[in-house]
Amino acid sequence: MTHHDRTRRIFSKLDPRGEPYAKSVDRCFAPTLKEDPADAELASHRLMTRAGLIRKLSGGIYSYLPLMLRSMRKLERIVRASLNSRGAEELLLPAVQPLELWKESGRDKKYGPELLRFKDRHRRDFVVGPTHEEVITDIVRKDIRSHRDLPKNLYQIQTKFRDETRPRFGLMRGREFIMKDGYSFDADEEGANRSYRDMYESYEEIFRNCGLNFAIVEADSGAIGGSHSHEFMVLADSGENTLVFCSGCSYAANQEKAELVRRDAPVGEEAPLTRVHTPNVRRVPELAAFLKVPESRIIKSMLFLGEEKGSEVLALIPGHREVNLVKLENAMGGANLRLAEPEEARAIVGVSMGFVTPVGAKVRVIADNAIKNFGPGVVGTGEEDYHFTGAMPERDFAVGEYRDIALAVEGDPCPRCGGKLTLSKGIEVGHVFKLGTKYSEAMGARFSDKDGVDSPIIMGCYGIGIGRTVAAAIEQSHDKDGIVFPPGLSPYEVSLLPLQTNNADLMDKTLTLLDELTDLETEVLLDDRDERPGIKFKVADLLGFPLRLTVSEKTLAGGSVELKERATGKI
Ligand code: ATP
Ligand code: MG
Repeated sequence: MTHHDRTRRIFSKLDPRGEPYAKSVDRCFAPTLKEDPADAELASHRLMTRAGLIRKLSGGIYSYLPLMLRSMRKLERIVRASLNSRGAEELLLPAVQPLELWKESGRDKKYGPELLRFKDRHRRDFVVGPTHEEVITDIVRKDIRSHRDLPKNLYQIQTKFRDETRPRFGLMRGREFIMKDGYSFDADEEGANRSYRDMYESYEEIFRNCGLNFAIVEADSGAIGGSHSHEFMVLADSGENTLVFCSGCSYAANQEKAELVRRDAPVGEEAPLTRVHTPNVRRVPELAAFLKVPESRIIKSMLFLGEEKGSEVLALIPGHREVNLVKLENAMGGANLRLAEPEEARAIVGVSMGFVTPVGAKVRVIADNAIKNFGPGVVGTGEEDYHFTGAMPERDFAVGEYRDIALAVEGDPCPRCGGKLTLSKGIEVGHVFKLGTKYSEAMGARFSDKDGVDSPIIMGCYGIGIGRTVAAAIEQSHDKDGIVFPPGLSPYEVSLLPLQTNNADLMDKTLTLLDELTDLETEVLLDDRDERPGIKFKVADLLGFPLRLTVSEKTLAGGSVELKERATGKI
């Protein structure tokens, strides 16, 4: 058999899914680049572009080139195996959805401009699905009638579109991206909790099988409340999420969610409310220095605005703390809030930030729990350049509600055991969420229970970012030379490098090895280009498959080939 016939035969061997076991670098469309792309801030973005895994089409919109697709298919296989083994069923929903459905759930407003809307030729409104709760609920409400039809667990792997404000970091935060999204439907709480537990365990298995270093953290579940939401976070310094971990127990949470137990500020001696001239001193550190009081004795009054007029809220928080926006939003029933701009503050409360006062406030006041029993402290007066000292909550100003609205930081006490909290960064790759009856109530997905009583179906939803997970794996695992793929996600398992391609005997032995490897169902990328060894090594390192096999005149003289592990560099 000629060399050509041999390679053709080897390259035509397919795995049970119809994917080739081997390919040659020449035939593989993986255009590598020597230079880093100009807009890449993250290693994963840089390396995925340089290694020819992805190409940008438009902001936040990427093409997946063949090697990337192989990697994503591997992840999808891991996902399917885990979900299918738990009885979940795969389906495929349309990407285009009538806006009408989003009006029914009330999310057309909530989603805002992130929801891509368009009209068809009949001037009817449609959206490109950013997620599929509405569509799946619509299906289920028409076809599930009785408790005998439940439980159900349905998932899909599909393209989503979210018109993110700031698409960035390559596949990490795209506008178009591929998500595995799944939904569970149960007749009672117990069943819903079981479904949740099942998916939680499945996700744990999936990310473990990917070979990722990840943590599971309690996540914010928005206005629905309850602790039934967990995020799966790949641990990486470049992650956009801040996570809190307890050094004493297993408590782990997204900082957005992390509870802060109230430590009562010692109530000091009663003092009268006194107006003090503080010319141009508006920031906490300066004010603390000016008045010679600790920052913790200052009460910051921060004005936040909702989307509608009249939804202003004044948040009171000790001077050394920051407001946790997500907790504040939850305290306000899930409103979208933002800090008022200086001019807005002036228009609403008549004074600029730094001098805003809770005394006689006309807007709603929510104080952090730490403000309760707060001793005499410092607040604004509502008048430029003046503060009050000796201010006491309740005595001098009314508080609508005390809530936990402060951001937990390094060293804060753990809400479970009182141990010390530490912070680290993570990339959210998966999210499990107990929805309850939010969508089934709004959209009328009901069934008749055992006693014939009509009840809303209890739902859960579960998502994994497919592209983001591969990007996160690279973010977590790379070095100066390139990607270091975890074996579970690597496009191929082995880079096979014959160094002297003009040596017929060497090429013959290489092909024999390739033939044997593919018979053993090993996936191999063969670099038989007529290139210098240095170039082949560079490409192999950049692509980062777990193993590199080098066949050279030198290794053959020793009767062997060289095997190098990408992760450890061990030969
Ligand atoms: P984020 O807070 O990062 O915007 P999210 O809470 O909006 O995420 P979900 O709606 O829970 O995300 O989506 C499920 C999964 O989809 C996420 O865990 C993530 O892996 C992935 N994902 C979400 N948004 C994007 C995006 N813009 N680009 C890539 N993947 C995404
Ligand atoms: Mg989002």
